[in-house]
Amino acid sequence: MDNFNNGAFSLNHQDTKKDFDLISKAIDASISGIIITDNLQPDNPIIYCNAAFEKMTGYVRPEIIGHNCRFLQKDDRNQEVRFILRDAVRAGQDCCVEIRNYRKNGELFWNELYMSAIKDEHGTVTHFIGVQNDITLRKKAEQELKMQQDLMEKRIEERTQSLKDSEDYLASIIQTVRESLIVLDHKFHVLSANDHFLRTFKVNIADTVGKHLYELGNGQWDIPKLKELLVSILPTSNPVENFEVEHDFPYIGKKLMLLNAYRVELQGHYKDRILLAIEDITERREIERRKDDFLSIASHELKTPLTTIKGYVQVLERLMPENASDKYRSVVSKTANYIDRLNNLIAELLDVSRIQTGNIEVHRAYFDFDKMVGETVEAMQLASVGPKIVIRGKIGIAYYGDEPHIVQVITNLLSNAIKYAPDSEEVVVYLSLVSDYIKVSVMDSGMGISYENQKRIFERFFRVGEIQQRFPGMGIGLYLCDQIVKNHGGTLWVDSEKGKGSTFSFTLPLKQKGNDE
Ligand code: ADP
Repeated sequence: MDNFNNGAFSLNHQDTKKDFDLISKAIDASISGIIITDNLQPDNPIIYCNAAFEKMTGYVRPEIIGHNCRFLQKDDRNQEVRFILRDAVRAGQDCCVEIRNYRKNGELFWNELYMSAIKDEHGTVTHFIGVQNDITLRKKAEQELKMQQDLMEKRIEERTQSLKDSEDYLASIIQTVRESLIVLDHKFHVLSANDHFLRTFKVNIADTVGKHLYELGNGQWDIPKLKELLVSILPTSNPVENFEVEHDFPYIGKKLMLLNAYRVELQGHYKDRILLAIEDITERREIERRKDDFLSIASHELKTPLTTIKGYVQVLERLMPENASDKYRSVVSKTANYIDRLNNLIAELLDVSRIQTGNIEVHRAYFDFDKMVGETVEAMQLASVGPKIVIRGKIGIAYYGDEPHIVQVITNLLSNAIKYAPDSEEVVVYLSLVSDYIKVSVMDSGMGISYENQKRIFERFFRVGEIQQRFPGMGIGLYLCDQIVKNHGGTLWVDSEKGKGSTFSFTLPLKQKGNDE
């Protein structure tokens, strides 16, 4: 080949001309850049380069031959690998480096350079053969990968830091909440306890963490009901909410506690840990009790004079002169009506306090359910100018229950339907027998109840905030209905959507002691 024939290069062996041409063709056909340097000449000049080397560097042969390889580094001379290369050349050793080189147009390329020393029979290094590959793309990919890794590491660091921050943040919240919180392992050893727990139960952290729950504070937590919660209830129904435990603690006295327990079911580090939140409701319960006592006393105190007033109004009605004016008659009859309304309100309040003290009595007897509903609806319809009340379906059998109480439930549901749907045309009462249950539904197309409030309307004294001003009421009707239905073994519930009306339904089981079924 030209390069070999024309150049200053000559091989020191006796290859035939044919073999020699073949080898030089092969070298020129290589896609790797190949150079040969003469180590016996000053500054180890390049004496041969193949076509791929010219292509890779952008220089042509006349610009390459005679130069030391360092011209490819331009002024990028402080690369660490240059010293490795220099030492290898000096020691006459083979080496492989990845070095930054520059093409003739100044463009950087990464050169993967294999330098191999050729020695003569005396061991003197006569030549170096350099095989070069342009690995710019690979290097770029590696650099990008590295950048990605660095970025990832940075993100992980940031994430770890932010996790730590939120852990600290959570820990500070847990320390600040006005509820006692402890974390137990699956054998009920305390893993951590917040300040409120320590303060409330007058214990210190050293005597708490690591100890078995039942051994804390001289066994003051060895409470049978708590054991029942942790051992029998929690494993089958997780989480347990609002579990009441009363206990007489040696230092702090009798406490009524509301416990929420949650066992971590996720796989991993926190599996099987038990979080126990303890709310001291002793005082709250005491206040509630006082409020109930007040209600009961107040309603009794109000009832006595009211009964007397009612008696006097009845006397007035009886003694009404025949020639009494219409105005006079209307005043007396309105007074009687208002007294009845006041009486009903007081009766409801008395019912609430009776339920609270467990004194509500159920007087069961057989009665015709459909007739009872018909009469109740008729009475309601007469008393109100609101929507028309329509009955759909029938029960068709006698029911064994407390009729006045069931009347109270239906009256209450109907009066709510009318009160909270004043503009609707119709309120429907659906009657049906479902399996061995009586089912009654009262459907209105009124203002409806949001999902959040649906959960609370059966609590006593609960009223939906926004309607308080617009509609009168004490928030006890549904509470009473619920209790009455429960006393009969049934359930009361609501299906509703805000703005789209409500359907209150209740069921009463037929199969109960004394019933026909
Ligand atoms: P009260 O009607 O005296 O407020 P209740 O216990 O009967 O007390 O009802 C509790 C609350 O439930 C009411 O204040 C009202 O917000 C809501 N509610 C009851 N019935 C209906 C209904 N049919 N439509 C919309 N809201 C209702």
